[in-house]
Amino acid sequence: MIPGSFEYFAPTALDEALSLLQEHGDDAKVLAGGHSLIPTMKLRLAEPAVIIDIGRIGGLKGISESDGKLVIGALTTHHELESSDLVQQKVPLLAQTAAEIGDVQVRNKGTIGGSLAHADPAADWPAAILALDADLQIAGPNGERSVKATDFFQGLYETDLGDDEILTAIHVSIPDANTKGTYLKLHQVASGFALTGVAVVLTKSGDTCQSVAVGITGVSDAPYRASAVESELTGAALDAENIAAAAERSVDGIDALEDIHASQAYRQNLAKVYTRRAIESAAS
Ligand SMILES: Cc1cc2nc3c(=O)[nH]c(=O)nc-3n(C[C@H](O)[C@H](O)[C@H](O)COP(=O)(O)OP(=O)(O)OC[C@H]3O[C@@H](n4cnc5c(N)ncnc54)[C@H](O)[C@@H]3O)c2cc1C
Repeated sequence: MIPGSFEYFAPTALDEALSLLQEHGDDAKVLAGGHSLIPTMKLRLAEPAVIIDIGRIGGLKGISESDGKLVIGALTTHHELESSDLVQQKVPLLAQTAAEIGDVQVRNKGTIGGSLAHADPAADWPAAILALDADLQIAGPNGERSVKATDFFQGLYETDLGDDEILTAIHVSIPDANTKGTYLKLHQVASGFALTGVAVVLTKSGDTCQSVAVGITGVSDAPYRASAVESELTGAALDAENIAAAAERSVDGIDALEDIHASQAYRQNLAKVYTRRAIESAAS
């Protein structure tokens, strides 16, 4: 339970952090809230020789509104998102998702950027970020770039982030008044992580589904958009039968995980049940 020894840097500017990452390459790890990295280091699953603590870089924190979007700094904690009036008014799905993460201590220290960069297959944020079709802002040695959430998650603990890059912010378009979001999750009882978590963003036109986006976490080695559900429901009446039929397609083409917490068949069933419930909730 004691991590290996490491050299510690606490830069106060993004450029400085990026230079340190370049200098130390694979030996270095960025530290944000530490609630995934430090447990991994204590178990010696990670033994970085260099820790670059980005917690003192002011520009990576906070939530603001700009050009119809919420701009969320990567170092914004789960608690800040859960309790922000701006988030609750403009994109309540984000506050709802934050409230489902771990316990008070985890939410006070853990950051949205750390969670997305870590890409735990049972993490909550990826479902909401996928359903909201967010853009992730990344800084690296060649400047800044933006990547769609759908292109960011690439596998088990794997993302589009390079070793020499830092996730700086998340941009989320503010939905219109006809659009509702919901996040529903079955907690793994010991850790609180998602056995299945489903985020739905649904736009109605009368009783018809104008558009729907479904992000699912906990079911596969990487979070995903349930595109078969989305295409089945788009343009259809939002009645119980159509919603149930669409939800049945939530694991189409997906290789569901099997581990000590849940069998493959159980996870597949959970995905369908939670997708149906989340769509019903967003449509109601
Ligand atoms: C007891 C417990 C319960 C938990 N329960 C849940 C839960 O129910 N749901 C859930 O989703 N999560 C849960 N978590 C995880 C928690 O949300 C973490 O805070 C989160 O996954 C990581 O965020 P962090 O800021 O702590 O990142 P860190 O631990 O500091 O970093 C995690 C990884 O991301 C990298 N990284 C961090 N920030 C950046 C960045 N800006 N750019 C590039 N790379 C970066 C680090 O190098 C590291 O590899 C739990 C954790 C604990 C300890």
